[in-house]
Amino acid sequence: MNRQFAAVGLAGLLAVGAYFGLRQTDSEPAPPLEQALAPMGPDRVQIPLRIGKGSTLGTMLSGTGFSANAVREAALEHYDLARIRPDRELTLVYSDAEPEPVALSYVLDEDRTLFVEQEADALVARVEEVQYEVALDSRHLVLESSLWQAGLDAGLRPIDLVRLAEIFEYELDFNTELREGATFDLVAEVLSAAGRKSKLGALHAVRLVNGDKEVVAVRHLVDDEETFYHPDGTGMTRPFLRSPLEFSARVTSAFNPKRFHPVLKTRRPHNGTDFGAPTGTRVRSVAAGTVTYAGRNGGHGNYVKIKHEGPHETSYSHLSKIKVKKGATVRQGQLIGLVGTTGLSTGPHLHYQMWKNGRYVDAMNEPLPSSTPIARSKLAAFKETADRYVPMLDSAPE
Ligand SMILES: [Zn+2]
Repeated sequence: MNRQFAAVGLAGLLAVGAYFGLRQTDSEPAPPLEQALAPMGPDRVQIPLRIGKGSTLGTMLSGTGFSANAVREAALEHYDLARIRPDRELTLVYSDAEPEPVALSYVLDEDRTLFVEQEADALVARVEEVQYEVALDSRHLVLESSLWQAGLDAGLRPIDLVRLAEIFEYELDFNTELREGATFDLVAEVLSAAGRKSKLGALHAVRLVNGDKEVVAVRHLVDDEETFYHPDGTGMTRPFLRSPLEFSARVTSAFNPKRFHPVLKTRRPHNGTDFGAPTGTRVRSVAAGTVTYAGRNGGHGNYVKIKHEGPHETSYSHLSKIKVKKGATVRQGQLIGLVGTTGLSTGPHLHYQMWKNGRYVDAMNEPLPSSTPIARSKLAAFKETADRYVPMLDSAPE
């Protein structure tokens, strides 16, 4: 997985994976061998070696005539081959004239291959990067059976679909709210290189139409970091997540100040929302903040409470494990604990509470702070971007 994929986050991957029926074993494909080795010339023979679990460079190269130490040393400025990974490919290159290999290659990631070649008395290492041609293109996806299929049909990869889910994460839950007939229009960079499947680069503008809801997202780039805004410059991300659980877990008991308590058998207010989820499910902080409590707390069992910027606080009860310490600063979406059934609880669930100015409020119906718009100083430039790409959303072939 490359960095970009990592940045998407497990949450997005799992959430979308659940919807698409994807498995998580979806790793990057190695580039075709001819492509990777093309610069080596036609009189060479390439022998790919399968890297097994527990293989080391030493075991892989033993008996080949290459010294693992020398190869590692030569490559070190680019990559430490002591860390070869089982899902990658190591290839030995033989010349017709010699019994011993003249070079080896190792696929670093989707776009880069490391070569170590014998030149005179020395081993010389270099990294070759795929040179993509970049073109602007529009795509139109209609969700019929599944978004996964619609994406495939439009030439998208799983990672691209994950990116889409991330963009609209605050507007719509891809697991439960995406309807048949929903459409996506994209204006994106398409990267192509000889012998490779093309792939999407930057998504400049995306439009989602789902039922009677239409959302347009336009990309804004600052210091290599992309953020999506609505075309008028209002934000798409919000300070509070819809749910502390990544999966759209069922709400098993809603906020109800007059509830009859199932364990205590008395009328006791239910000052939070219960989410049914298996023990071990990841619990995230719904917003950035500071941990004000992390530990045992009577009937709440293992309990975490967080003070957010502004008037709101949230808490998370019955955890099987706590993953933060009192006083710690947390980011939005950060793992703070795991679902459990500690304290006064009838089974694994998350009891989630929210306060505003110290009084309990219903987190599911609380009007929470809205998104941050684009900085005023950037608005003019952003509008230009929007004016350029949004009209192109209509030009995708149906
Ligand atoms: Zn509860």
